[in-house]
Amino acid sequence: MTAQDIPRPNANEDQIAWIRVSSVFLPLATPISDAKVLTGRQKPMTEIAILFAEIHTRDGHSGLGFSYSKRAGGPGQFAHAKEIAPSLIGENPNDIARLWDKLAWAGASVGRSGLSTQAIGAFDVALWDLKAKRAGLSLAKLLGAQRDSVQCYNTSGGFLHTPLDQLLKNTDASREKGIGGIKLKVGQPDSSVDIHRVETVRKHLGEHFPLMVDANQQWSRPAAQRMCRILEQFNLVWIEEPLDCYDAEGHAALAQQFDTPIATGEMLTSVSEHWDFIRQRGADYLMPDAPRVGGVTPYLKVAALAEHAGLMIAPHFAMELHVHLAATHAREPWVEHFEWLEPLFNERLETRNGRMIVPTRPGLGVTLSEQVKQWTAAEAEAGQRP
Ligand SMILES: [Mg+2]
Repeated sequence: MTAQDIPRPNANEDQIAWIRVSSVFLPLATPISDAKVLTGRQKPMTEIAILFAEIHTRDGHSGLGFSYSKRAGGPGQFAHAKEIAPSLIGENPNDIARLWDKLAWAGASVGRSGLSTQAIGAFDVALWDLKAKRAGLSLAKLLGAQRDSVQCYNTSGGFLHTPLDQLLKNTDASREKGIGGIKLKVGQPDSSVDIHRVETVRKHLGEHFPLMVDANQQWSRPAAQRMCRILEQFNLVWIEEPLDCYDAEGHAALAQQFDTPIATGEMLTSVSEHWDFIRQRGADYLMPDAPRVGGVTPYLKVAALAEHAGLMIAPHFAMELHVHLAATHAREPWVEHFEWLEPLFNERLETRNGRMIVPTRPGLGVTLSEQVKQWTAAEAEAGQRP
């Protein structure tokens, strides 16, 4: 029997009828610098490229998904999405696993990671949003929630372009908002500046308030070794990306040696890249990013493998999506509070007593704001509007 002989869905089942993909450039209020900028590898970030996918079915159901890129890559994600979108038309929107594979096969020659997979991610998230909405459930409840709120920490107040006095004010504002932890960027060319900033913030917060640091891959192995040893005294929740994001062996050596947990994984763009870290125990906290690995479907595979291997999880960025996914893991993750994407949506996430409340609205629980139109650079459609 060939694939053609396998019976196709009958005509009574719902079908994907119309898709719109759009390329949106969201401006940031302040140019952002982490260690990659201070070591001269990147320029300060002024905008985020978002790829939206809106999927509509013949029976009137719809889903909204997104992927994103920081700095270059947005137009490439959009071009790939535009090219593969027509292969979803006429398909049953419930068959998310099969449709993920179909989209991957459509672009098999450009690989199963990186930009091509991130384009698939926008469709995959939209299909999960659609399925949850149709069930009348939040995405967390559809997947099977363990909890209704998740511990969360703030990153956006602790970047390297922020002077120390402002940093302390930002930590106060974050605590007043009910956010449960603070992350500081480190990895400056002069490590004494890093240590001074961490020491000052630790004193300001008190000994037990959750504090993390993130070096954004800018230390060599010897520098990371030295810094992890010095940072042990500050009772940190984790030290993030001390090394190059693909150095699983180096991360594993640090995780083995130091009491402070090592976190990494945000830059990885597929299940296989994560599997490499899980196998080598290259993290205490693995930090998968659903849009970056290709959507909810591959994210769940990464999370299952990590959980089975005994690693903790702290998803990267995109809290609007990750709050739902983090609610489903057995060991409680940390969700990263980043308000950068807020202007894209009409809804706001609630934080209280150190925790982010999982929205109870159906699906992801977000709708696009009016402002998105003015930031839209390109749009493309597939199929016919029902
Ligand atoms: Mg990071």
